[in-house]
Amino acid sequence: MSDYRFRGKRPTPTEMREKLKTKRNSMPEQEPKVRCNNFEEVNLGYDAETAIREAKRCLLCLAPQCVKGCPVKIKIPEFIDLIAKGEFMEALNVMKRDNALPAVTGRVCPQETQCEGVCAMGKGKNSPVGIGYLERFIADFERKSDIKCCMEKEKPTGKKAAIIGSGPGGLTAAADLARMGHEVHIFEALHKGGGVLVYGIPEFRLPKEIVEYEIDALQEAGVKLHTNAVIGKLFTIEELKKEEGFDTIFIGVGAGAPRFLGLDGENLNGVFSANEFLTRSNLMKGYQFPEFDTPIKRGRNVTVVGGGNVAMDAARTALRLGANVTIVYRRAREQMPARDEEIMHGEEEGIDFKLLTNPIGLEADENGWVKNMECIQMELGEPDDSGRRRPVPVEGSNFKIETDLVIIAIGSNANPLLTATVPDLKLNRWGNIETDKKGRTSVEGVWAGGDIVTGAATVIEAMGAGRTAAEDMNTYLKEGFKWVMLD
Ligand code: FAD
Ligand code: SF4
Repeated sequence: MSDYRFRGKRPTPTEMREKLKTKRNSMPEQEPKVRCNNFEEVNLGYDAETAIREAKRCLLCLAPQCVKGCPVKIKIPEFIDLIAKGEFMEALNVMKRDNALPAVTGRVCPQETQCEGVCAMGKGKNSPVGIGYLERFIADFERKSDIKCCMEKEKPTGKKAAIIGSGPGGLTAAADLARMGHEVHIFEALHKGGGVLVYGIPEFRLPKEIVEYEIDALQEAGVKLHTNAVIGKLFTIEELKKEEGFDTIFIGVGAGAPRFLGLDGENLNGVFSANEFLTRSNLMKGYQFPEFDTPIKRGRNVTVVGGGNVAMDAARTALRLGANVTIVYRRAREQMPARDEEIMHGEEEGIDFKLLTNPIGLEADENGWVKNMECIQMELGEPDDSGRRRPVPVEGSNFKIETDLVIIAIGSNANPLLTATVPDLKLNRWGNIETDKKGRTSVEGVWAGGDIVTGAATVIEAMGAGRTAAEDMNTYLKEGFKWVMLD
């Protein structure tokens, strides 16, 4: 689809010049001083008038770069053109052909490095079209209105597909397979569907009612969600096929096993993985204690180690729970993998960023609780294999940070719970499942996609993998083919 062409009416040269003079409409937000005391969404969303104004900035490029920049190739100028004309539900229909979860991706996709990063309006001094903001607008428009964009389903095929894991990869595969007429069952280990969207990403960035709305819509379309169903324990893959009658299986179990630094003192009281801290707060609603009785430690001086979205989410959650928060990251700001918007929001909210700083040990108080983090200053040396300048310690620059809660957010690994029960399933050396470009694994009838294949990545990439696999599963179910892993 990289040769996609916009076929609608293009602007005249005069209209084009006028568009080029327009400035991007900013996203209304809660004030930093207010929002750091609540868990409500930071970004408030465009109203219809602003959305139309922003949509009218789009140059409706004939060969739009934004579509090339989008991992799932959404027909961006097409949906934006419809917004500009006030045809919001039509815009949503165009969007949903390529993206089943626009309310989610409009909020969490790193647009600045994808569609907006290559938008023609962003070349030179102007800012790109707010593609993500517009995506979010039409999805919210549907949710807030009585009109629903109903799933059109093909007639039942009598075939059954099992989806293991209800993250964005699994949900997308489920939606597509249901649309293609298959009977779809999702098996989810936790008591709620949504994967990282519910247990990882906090309410102030992605309200949980949005994820619930999308899952409800899937269930209304006939998809069965089985929660508290740990595959590998409740059933094996073999049992799903032979005893439960599933013709195909998609594994989308994510990469939820936290990584640690291996520091002295990392097992002290008061040291958490970001995964546990965020799950307590988001999924188990610990931030609403005592209304919800999940205990969560509210530190006074919290130190978060890492520079990605997970570190930012953990830091901003701890801040909202009342702490002074420091982020310790061993590289420079421009190397932080977190989204720009999240870093900026964190800065505005008062998080202290100790950049080019590496933790080297943790010290305990007399009761075994963490009390200090010893750090060393870093400087940037020669580029490493990733092309980024390698951080190297500055000798004699050690210093201590007083801290009573440490959150480690340096990435996650594949959890072997399921994969260990499938002897023929080929894994790479990190325990991720090996697949071909269609998502086929080494086991016939079993596909995989999302973080369990790529390692920790993004929501839209997991959705893209779910979509690719669903298409291939559909061919297998309807026409059958000889099982080979393609190059
Ligand atoms: P997941 O979302 O990980 O879902 C997997 C599901 O499978 C889980 O619900 C799990 O409980 C279930 N499961 C696991 N094992 C089993 C089993 N044996 N049986 C049944 N079910 C099982 N990406 C972005 O694009 N933008 C962001 O802003 C962003 N922020 C993030 C913030 C945090 C805190 C985290 C942790 C990640 C973030 N990401 C972000 C990354 C993104 O969320 C993931 O790449 C994406 O969710 C991966 O989707 P997935 O479908 O592969 O798996
Ligand atoms: Fe519009 Fe930018 Fe895409 Fe061109 S590249 S069609 S201006 S969003």
